[in-house]
Amino acid sequence: MADCIFCKIASGEINAKVVYDDADVVAFLDLNPQAPTHALIVPRRHIDRLTAATEADAELLGKLQLAAAKVAKVLKVEGAFRLVTNNGKGAGQSVDHLHYHLLGGRKLLWPPG
Ligand code: 5GP
Ligand code: ZN
Repeated sequence: MADCIFCKIASGEINAKVVYDDADVVAFLDLNPQAPTHALIVPRRHIDRLTAATEADAELLGKLQLAAAKVAKVLKVEGAFRLVTNNGKGAGQSVDHLHYHLLGGRKLLWPPG
């Protein structure tokens, strides 16, 4: 999608610190980390947000979760991490391309803010 920053990162047009990638998924470090470990896991194909996904995306959504588990291992936080998506502006979504935040490396409080 034109003018989507995460599409551009997925295509390599914009640089990012990529920590994992495969045919369908790219993961890279967040530019403004909220924890010692903070990666973003995104589908290469543009989907606005989780609620924009359809049944046709079911396999891709599964791949994103499996990729997140691999990223946790690559970043050595597989024992304790949080995986979260902000769906919609009110939830804090600022980039309209589906992404999961993987946070770790510090004590994670619950409930989140
Ligand atoms: P959201 O607020 O939509 O849930 O998360 C968007 C995340 O993308 C934010 O944590 C923000 O720091 C990160 N981000 C925004 N632009 C860039 C960028 O150009 N590169 C990287 N690596 N992260 C970005
Ligand atoms: Zn996009």
